[in-house]
Formats: sequence, C-alpha cells, structure tokens
Amino acid sequence: MKERTIQLANEEQTVALGRTIAMACKQGAVINLYGDLGAGKTTFSRGFLQALGHQGHVKSPTYTLVEPYELADRHVFHFDLYRLADPEELEFMGIRDYFSDNSVCLVEWPQQGKGFLPEADLEIHLTYQDEGRQARVVAFSTTGESLLEALTVF
Ligand code: ADP
Ligand code: MG
Repeated sequence: MKERTIQLANEEQTVALGRTIAMACKQGAVINLYGDLGAGKTTFSRGFLQALGHQGHVKSPTYTLVEPYELADRHVFHFDLYRLADPEELEFMGIRDYFSDNSVCLVEWPQQGKGFLPEADLEIHLTYQDEGRQARVVAFSTTGESLLEALTVF
C-alpha cells in the first residue's frame, strides 16, 4: 500500500486532482471516494469526467445510484451509494456487470456497499481542512500505484 496526502486549497484544485487521475487512468480501474457531504467527491468526479471529454454538468446520482457516461474511449460509471438502504440491493441491480475490464468506476459512499463491491485500485479520502480540503490518496494495486505516480504535479 502506498499513499500520498495532498492539500487542495480551492475547488479548482479538487477538479485538477480529478483531471490528473483521469488522464492516467486505464480501463478497469475502480476509484472509491470517501468523505462527508460537501467534501468534494462529486467535484473530483466532474474533473475526472470532463478530462475524458464529458461536457457539462455532473451531479451525484443520489436517487438512481449510478450514472453511466459513454465517452470517446472510455465507459465511466459514477456511483453515489449514499441512499443505498441495504448493500444487498447492489446484487439486484446487477452490480457485477458494471465493474468490468471495459469500464472505469468512480464510487461515492462505497462504505454503503461494503461486501458487495470489488476491491478498489485507489481510495481517495477527502476531508475539510481550513477553507479548503485535504485528499489522502491510497493505492491498493499496481493500477492504483500508477495513478499515485501521476500525482507528481501536486
Ligand atoms: P460531495 O460530493 O463530497 O458531497 P461536492 O463535490 O458535491 O461534495 O461539493 C463540494 C463543495 O465544496 C462544492 O461546493 C465545491 O465548490 C466545494 N469544494 C470542492 N473542493 C474544494 C476545495 N478544495 N476547497 C474548497 N471548497 C471546495
Ligand atoms: Mg456527491
């Protein structure tokens, strides 16, 4: 396990973190996003998706649980499991089909799906820090480590 702690002074830096990780991200990667409401998980996801060509709005799929993005050369599934009542519901929505070698998954509130989600390659733990945020980025695989290595600019 390898990790880095990064200071994000403003929203733009959270977007830049998402963008930087997206540019280094291979198909099949799973990125779990932890942090309280308003910590910046969706802001990170917006930077990530826009870097891969998504234009426009990104909002947490709080009620639908997952939003698919068909981008130029990537399928990205953006999950928000905040309102998941029972992790077993993930079985009924066919969770395994989403996590494949042909897609990238961003998961907000992964702790809500504990036991029914695959292991993440990378975890990002966002916390409030003064006026800004802090991101602790932890790699759990060689894929995750390669994403960590892309963060030299921070
Ligand atoms: P979450 O998905 O974790 O609930 P959002 O990304 O929806 O959080 O909202 C985060 C809020 O905090 C937004 O209003 C955004 O502008 C702001 N924000 C994001 N990153 C930072 C940062 N590094 N410093 C200050 N504010 C930030
Ligand atoms: Mg969110």
